[in-house]
Amino acid sequence: MQDCLFCKIAAGEIPSNRIYEDDKVLAFYDIDPQAPVHFLVIPKEHIASPACITPENSAVVAHIFTVIAKLAGELGLENGYRVVTNSGPDAGQSVGHLHFHVLAKRSLAWPPG
Ligand code: AMP
Ligand code: ZN
Repeated sequence: MQDCLFCKIAAGEIPSNRIYEDDKVLAFYDIDPQAPVHFLVIPKEHIASPACITPENSAVVAHIFTVIAKLAGELGLENGYRVVTNSGPDAGQSVGHLHFHVLAKRSLAWPPG
């Protein structure tokens, strides 16, 4: 997808601090961390938002959650972590490519603001 920031990161055209990569997904640290650990996991395929998940493209979402569980173990997040995905303007989605935030290593308020 032209002019998509996260497609460019997935393609290696824009640098990122990568944690994990396979043929379907990429995990990298957020450029503006909101917790001591804050990384993003994205499908390499362009999916514009959570609202665009369909029966045809949803398998990657399950895969992303297995990657998150593996990375949480490797990064020592035994005290817990939060997975967040924002969909649309009211939720504050600022990048139009599906991504899951993983936040950890601090106490996280609930409900979120
Ligand atoms: P959202 O606001 O939910 O769409 O999340 C987008 C996230 O992408 C924000 O937390 C940004 O800090 C993060 N972000 C934007 N540009 C970059 C980048 N070049 N590398 C890593 N993270 C980024
Ligand atoms: Zn994209």
